[in-house]
Amino acid sequence: ERILTARELYRFYRADEEETLALRGVSLQVQRGETLAVVGPSGSGKSTLLACLAGLDEPSGGEVRVGGLRISHRPETERARLRARHIGVLLQTRNLLPHVSIRDNIRLAQRATAGRPAVSAQELLGQVELAERTHALPRQLSGGELARAGLAVALANSPDILLADEPTGELDGETEQVVLTLLRNRAAQGCAVLIVTHSAEAVRVADRVIGLEDGRTVGAAVVPERQEAP
Ligand code: ADP
Ligand code: ADP
Repeated sequence: ERILTARELYRFYRADEEETLALRGVSLQVQRGETLAVVGPSGSGKSTLLACLAGLDEPSGGEVRVGGLRISHRPETERARLRARHIGVLLQTRNLLPHVSIRDNIRLAQRATAGRPAVSAQELLGQVELAERTHALPRQLSGGELARAGLAVALANSPDILLADEPTGELDGETEQVVLTLLRNRAAQGCAVLIVTHSAEAVRVADRVIGLEDGRTVGAAVVPERQEAP
């Protein structure tokens, strides 16, 4: 079942006389339970693609669908509502508010949807092994803890789709494995996971990899052997 579909995405930027076509007809899809890795050099359009898929940015052309619903070409408030309901987004900034505890960061994310959260903040913190750090502020966390806290916020509303920009960037090998295992467990539970990454380890746990170059996809590959994380 295709849960995330992008069809012929274009993104045109104009800034100070400078015109950039950051996406030039990108199409992709991610199925339930699948992990897709997007790789490519700096400036190839990865962040722009992720923002368009998440409904944080509007493509200049093409369409993004989440489940059966179009999320692109809608007012910001509607995109935000669809995003809160279906998509967990983990940005490089880790999307944490600095002055509230990690538990309250999760609770605030949960307020964005009208219904009762399917999973409590405390339960989520347990899943990312931060049960002992409930009341900590983001600045009190180590890099690895921050990555997991950001993931807990992304998962706050039990999303069908998880979009992550460099989820293991700047983590040591051991912490990277912990985060990758968490992402894989999500996929195993039926989530569609898309990660933008430079990490060979992260690419190895993906079911499929697509390359981006100059705003275009440059090939899809099935990763033959999935390496089991320890
Ligand atoms: P990444 O770490 O993904 O390579 P970038 O350094 O490309 O991130 O971009 C960081 C932020 O700056 C993004 O929000 C992107 O949209 C914005 N950005 C990148 N290039 C430009 C530009 N030429 N003009 C304005 N904003 C830009
Ligand atoms: P990546 O994440 O792969 O580094 P980006 O999506 O950040 O790539 O950028 C793709 C291209 O679009 C780059 O040429 C970048 O400079 C340009 N770009 C990104 N964001 C903006 C922006 N807000 N305004 C103008 N140009 C941008």
